[in-house]
Amino acid sequence: ENKDNQEIQLNEEPDVVEEEDEEARTFEELGLDPRLIRALNKKEISITEPTPIQRVAIPLILQGKDVVARAKTGSGKTLAYLLPLLQKLLGTADSNRKKLSPLAFILVPSGELCQQVYKEVSSLIDSCKVQLKVVHLTSNMPASDLRNALAGPPDILVSTPSCVAKSLSVGVLKSESINDSLEILVLDEADLLLSFGYEEDLKALTALVPRRCQCLLMSATSSADVDKLKKLILHNPYVLTLPEVE
Ligand code: ADP
Ligand code: MG
Repeated sequence: ENKDNQEIQLNEEPDVVEEEDEEARTFEELGLDPRLIRALNKKEISITEPTPIQRVAIPLILQGKDVVARAKTGSGKTLAYLLPLLQKLLGTADSNRKKLSPLAFILVPSGELCQQVYKEVSSLIDSCKVQLKVVHLTSNMPASDLRNALAGPPDILVSTPSCVAKSLSVGVLKSESINDSLEILVLDEADLLLSFGYEEDLKALTALVPRRCQCLLMSATSSADVDKLKKLILHNPYVLTLPEVE
């Protein structure tokens, strides 16, 4: 029972891009918060213009849509989800929300990627000078370390599916709080998540994800695994595919 997914095909060929001059070309036109735009400008290598996947994904994610973004490695998928995710959370920063659980989970297939994404998020948060807490958890941490890291709790958790599953099983993360609090779930490098053996952990977690939670799936390929995850987690997503998918 496939849902009526809305497929948007992007074409990178210059003549086609030229015809679409209505399309937003700047981060301002995409509706990004000035604090985030300034943060991008302040980076070591200043980022001034959105990439094609960012141009299409950012406005949809800002509107709260579920999105599957398939585009080749190096096309800028990290910022395509991080910028709108942070914008959504900027609105909740400094509020008196009684925090029981993270608002956003970013799940990645490896510890290395976990570290990379964490660095990227923290530097953006630092530049924006807002009170948002981000934590990254990697595998094989003892339960006491998991407990310390999640005490607080953070607004954003960057982790692997197995680490989240472990945190749930030792009671450091609570199912009910996730169900109450989770607003955004990102699966980055989704094509690798299943092949790396995270299927059971992901199933356990997605069972807790509330219906209102926005789900984003980023991938470099369009494999059967990505399709499987899409059906498992997303509700009527926009599917964005850049032509040169590997
Ligand atoms: P992907 O996840 O699609 O493989 P990344 O998000 O890792 O790609 O981005 C690849 C590189 O491109 C990174 O070094 C990132 O900083 C850079 N990058 C991302 N967006 C832009 C942009 N709009 N302008 C210039 N460089 C960008
Ligand atoms: Mg990536």
